[in-house]
Amino acid sequence: MTDLTKLTATEIAGLVAAGETSAVEVTQAHLDRIAAVDDRVHAFLHVDAEGALAAARDVDERRAAGERLGPLAGVPVAVKDVLTTKGVPTTVGSKILEGWRPPYDSTIVRRLRAAGTVMLGKTNMDEFAMGSSTEYSAYGPTHNPWDLNRIPGGSGGGSAAALAAYEAPLAIGSDTGGSIRQPGAVTGTVGAKPTYGGTSRYGLVAFSSSLDTPGPCARTVLDAALLHEVIGGHDPADSTSIPQPVPDVVAAAKRGATGDLTGVKLGIVSEFVGEGAEPGVMAAFRESVDTLTKLGAEIVEVSCPNFKYALPAYYLIAPSECSSNLARFDGVRFGLRVGDDGNRSLEEVMSLTREAGFGPEVKRRIMIGTYALSSGYYDAYYGQAQKVRTLITRDFTAAFEQVDALISPTTPFVAFPIGARTSDPYQMYLADLFTIPTNLYGGPGISVPCGLSDGLPVGLQVMAPTMADDRMYRVAAALESAVGTFTPPAL
Ligand code: GLN
Repeated sequence: MTDLTKLTATEIAGLVAAGETSAVEVTQAHLDRIAAVDDRVHAFLHVDAEGALAAARDVDERRAAGERLGPLAGVPVAVKDVLTTKGVPTTVGSKILEGWRPPYDSTIVRRLRAAGTVMLGKTNMDEFAMGSSTEYSAYGPTHNPWDLNRIPGGSGGGSAAALAAYEAPLAIGSDTGGSIRQPGAVTGTVGAKPTYGGTSRYGLVAFSSSLDTPGPCARTVLDAALLHEVIGGHDPADSTSIPQPVPDVVAAAKRGATGDLTGVKLGIVSEFVGEGAEPGVMAAFRESVDTLTKLGAEIVEVSCPNFKYALPAYYLIAPSECSSNLARFDGVRFGLRVGDDGNRSLEEVMSLTREAGFGPEVKRRIMIGTYALSSGYYDAYYGQAQKVRTLITRDFTAAFEQVDALISPTTPFVAFPIGARTSDPYQMYLADLFTIPTNLYGGPGISVPCGLSDGLPVGLQVMAPTMADDRMYRVAAALESAVGTFTPPAL
């Protein structure tokens, strides 16, 4: 019998549509897999078995009634715990939202349900999506299925690990500085950050609103494109949503899968291939560049001189926005409330709640952001960082006058051992060295597995102009057609 958990989303949808398997069977197989391995992986914070089976039964009934099903009907999906799910716990990896059951679905989740996908549950993440290893989750770390002693990346490590451990064929992540792409790279899975505004932020618990971008995670490029198409597109409930149709990412992935990149011009970001990436990562990247050349792409080096300022600019802009966004967690409106014994003032309750509810990294960000925004320092820090953001955008614009897309390694290093970088925040921040410029610019970026270094996965990043998400899917699918997919050792 086929192991349903080893199939791609495309294969599952095909079998369900043809009536060769039922959505209930598929869902049960994944729930069983979660039960068998998740005590070791800890990809999930909450498994909604009942809700998943009910959604699966609904798909099976609709199929039996002869209804036309969507392209991903009956396919299980794991959702990062940063998106609100009606009646289903949403913690954002934080104690401050422990026990909170949102009264509404985020737009992404609403679209997932409408498409007939089956939500398995909510995945682990660094608290408030701040981190690169999922070690800052208030509920304990997620383990990388490639080596359980290593991190699965972050902040969306739970979503990426669920894919690599065959607990789900599809997952949703959110990318503010790399949180979809970096976990994808270090778990040997595909992670795509859409154009900012191409996917709705309605119901996405805000970290840094000018950067936060929900997006698809999968084990293949085509699966990611199918998921992208289902969740993307204009949403009037999000003021920064782009009122344009989703670029045809599915057609682009299919075109790329033919393995022909003739006429495509790719730029290697010079600043990212000098120093910064470890030798094993660079070796896998260089080999992929040769492969892309063989597929017909023309490859040149392009300089983006301001990219080196992206990390410091991001670590002023993101904390500034976070200090403002996280003010809403006051012990009154949602989740945790500490010290409300009838004798304390509102201010005391707020401060006790925030003291107990937020972890150390979140507190650090709130403090940095509050400082950067305070009068007297605003121009020197936040203002300067915004100017750098403009310069980075200009680097991208100039680069895209010369090439169709940019490429680089996704991350400077492969999955590191749990605990290796928690004592020095700067070492953790470096994980997103290559992914952050795209967020500051607002364009799309994808990480696709490109090889192994010492038995651990390496990702290649493709960056495209805003609203040209299709281009990155074409390049990523072409590379995937040549190098294949990567399977971790059996758990
Ligand atoms: N690692 C980065 C940070 O800690 C990015 C996080 C993200 O994309 N959500 O801010």
